Amino acid sequence: MKVLLAYPEFPDTFWSFKHALRFPGKRSAYPPLGLLTVSALLPPSWEKRLVDSNVQRLKDSDLQWADVVFFSGMIVQGSSMKEQIARAKRLGKRTVVGGPIASAHDPSISQADHIVEGEAEDVIGELAGDLERGAAKPQYSSPQMVDVTRTPLPDLHLASMGRYSCMSIQFSRGCPFTCEFCDIIEIYGRRPRTKTPDQVCAELDQLYRLGWRGSVFMVDDNFIGNKKSVKALLPRLVEWMREHKFPFTLFTEASLNLAEDEEMLELMRAAHFTRVFLGIETPVAESLKETTKFQNLRKDLLESVRLIQAYGMEVMAGFIVGFDNDPPDVFDRQIEFIRQAAIPLSMVGLLTALPNTQLWRRLKAEGRLLKSSLGNNTLADLNFIPRMDTQELLEGYRRILRTIYNPREYFQRTSAFLSQLGSGSRSPLVFSDLVALSRSLWRQGLLSNYRQEYWKFLVQSLRLHRQHFSKAVTLAIMGHHFFALTSATETN
Ligand code: SF4
Repeated sequence: MKVLLAYPEFPDTFWSFKHALRFPGKRSAYPPLGLLTVSALLPPSWEKRLVDSNVQRLKDSDLQWADVVFFSGMIVQGSSMKEQIARAKRLGKRTVVGGPIASAHDPSISQADHIVEGEAEDVIGELAGDLERGAAKPQYSSPQMVDVTRTPLPDLHLASMGRYSCMSIQFSRGCPFTCEFCDIIEIYGRRPRTKTPDQVCAELDQLYRLGWRGSVFMVDDNFIGNKKSVKALLPRLVEWMREHKFPFTLFTEASLNLAEDEEMLELMRAAHFTRVFLGIETPVAESLKETTKFQNLRKDLLESVRLIQAYGMEVMAGFIVGFDNDPPDVFDRQIEFIRQAAIPLSMVGLLTALPNTQLWRRLKAEGRLLKSSLGNNTLADLNFIPRMDTQELLEGYRRILRTIYNPREYFQRTSAFLSQLGSGSRSPLVFSDLVALSRSLWRQGLLSNYRQEYWKFLVQSLRLHRQHFSKAVTLAIMGHHFFALTSATETN
């Protein structure tokens, strides 16, 4: 059996980093880890190919080669996936869809022949057998949360690694918290399940053996969801890194209670974690209570961010406007918080009711749902009726973006961040970093309309934050992505 693993295209969102990836000559941020893991679960006798449409074009000849096409993706990839499913079917190919988009029953996958809901590990054997016999069912559902200690190493050799800026590995799935808008806990559960330290080291070994050096994203929903297991893992991770002379820097997502555990922070610094994404959501306590994000109310938010930064880790954070309890000054309060916390990469989005979440169920009961979510945090597009006047909310949201991604404001905030950043690890310098620097000097330093602010920032970084200079260049390049997208948001 020949299987084509197809990963549809992401639209241009804050998370795509498309405008920044051009600088180091990369096409996408991360390879599709879920599909590569599915590949490893399929019978070894099957022939497998991967086409990630974010790094290469899906050709008719790719589809013609295959007996069956396996798609995976998120809701935000729905439009591209719908088009690719239709193409595969026109060529007479059997189509299978899994991943978060399948668990969400998104309308864009309605034409697929077979849907795999939930995690793949416990159903993929049955699906493969049924496909071989020509008797596959329309729907497969994982009977339980899978035991990830049995999850195999992903088939990374199928990915063109040089086209990505970062590689990904996974340690855990699930999160113990209860945020009302979150779909992670609905899909992966509230009991975080973790791989063993040996599995994680094996994933790092594989990356190292395949020649990867640089950033590695630990794609966990909440890396510290199971603190006991993380504390068992981190010393092994530190040991592995030392033995291999620190070939990687690590990035992950965690809940804000990370700032309540300095032992954890110290271990993460030692393991070369250089960036962590936190769901801060809002400085408005009433809105945090509304969304049952109580872990963000336990300690002062600013203090928490600064403590993590002091451990040498850049804080990247998510913010949301549109909660029922948001007061009229929420937009100014968000801007002020982002400024004071000095968070360069602040992902601000409108509240979205994702399918099958607690928020979705509440808004449905209240008769306030308008349509399915597009899963795109860049669009000023609401899928429910907010308490605040819709126009006021949309204008306030655009004003936050306009303000925080004004180049002068961004570079000032990034300079403030570099002053707060404690000593940590430095990324190993790779060839693409030098390419990125030269392109940044050319495009941002000579051709951009914010070149004056850019040079001021670079010179100041060299003078005051020389030890963080490569971070400064990376953040200047990332800023370009946000400047470009924010101007686009102004026009949509
Ligand atoms: S902390 Fe993050 S992953 Fe956990 S429930 Fe809240 S939003 Fe979801």
